[in-house]
Amino acid sequence: AKEKGRNSYQFFAADMNARAYEELLMSKALRDALNERQFVLHYQPSVSLQDYRITGVEALVRWVHPEQGLIPPSAFVPLAERNGLIGELGQWVFSEACRQAAEWRSMGLPPLRVAVNVSARQFNRRRLVAELSEVIAKSGMVAADLHLEITESMMMENPKRALTTLREVAEMGIDIAVDDFGTGHSSLSYLKDFPIHFLKIDRSFVMGLPEDEDALAIVRAIVAMAHNLNLKVIAEGVETAAQRDLLAAIGCDEAQGYFFSRPRRADDVIKLLRNGKPL
Ligand code: C2E
Ligand code: CA
Ligand code: CA
Ligand code: CA
Repeated sequence: AKEKGRNSYQFFAADMNARAYEELLMSKALRDALNERQFVLHYQPSVSLQDYRITGVEALVRWVHPEQGLIPPSAFVPLAERNGLIGELGQWVFSEACRQAAEWRSMGLPPLRVAVNVSARQFNRRRLVAELSEVIAKSGMVAADLHLEITESMMMENPKRALTTLREVAEMGIDIAVDDFGTGHSSLSYLKDFPIHFLKIDRSFVMGLPEDEDALAIVRAIVAMAHNLNLKVIAEGVETAAQRDLLAAIGCDEAQGYFFSRPRRADDVIKLLRNGKPL
């Protein structure tokens, strides 16, 4: 029996497919990383397409791994969604982004909106609104400086509940942006009922500009529809001057992308803001 006990783990490990085993190890590493606070937020500016001045920043999480260095969110956010650690990770992201927003305000910099990505599991937490107001109060930030980015599928999973949550969030003065717009199984009906302020056109549409006529038609249609609904539009993933100029000509309100700035550390954001020049 003793022999069997000793071997069962080896059996287990050998039997599990390599991916599942890898996932188990990663989950444990992520658990430890949360305990040790091995995360950092980088911030990517968005600019007005009228004057190319900074309108705000999007907080993007990175894992500062002691051996592997900076790990991008694509390598651990989906895992955190699956294993439930996203709740704790998301809480950390909220409080760190709010702390940073309050710090920027206290430095006398111009008001800056700080957008935070919300995961599906986080959005469905009953305590989301209570947790948010707690974090905001504790940080001393101005609630109106905070934006939340959520996806279409998050709203469509349970539209009634999503509407209630979004109304409460909007009442706190927090603006809502629909992230990756155009990529979800879109039911446009929610746009008229939900308190939404921004649509973010997904990078996959912007990528094809200016040559791809179909992409251009979609981008034009999104901008026209958004404006008819009194929403503002932010184009994601702008990498070239030609894309910037075309989006500005179409009347897109704001843009974000490597052409203007990559995501940067908070210190480097301050330099940009202090310098005050258009990007
Ligand atoms: P997203 O919300 O669509 O964020 C935009 C992603 O595109 C970021 O990648 C950003 O660095 C990248 N990007 C920005 N401009 C350009 C460009 O011009 N070209 C290209 N090729 N890429 C560009 P990142 O930081 O790796 O984040 C990936 C995704 O991970 C995000 O997509 C978001 O869905 C998720 N994520 C990031 N931070 C958080 C977080 O704090 N919480 C949650 N729940 N998800 C997060
Ligand atoms: Ca986003
Ligand atoms: Ca995107
Ligand atoms: Ca509306």
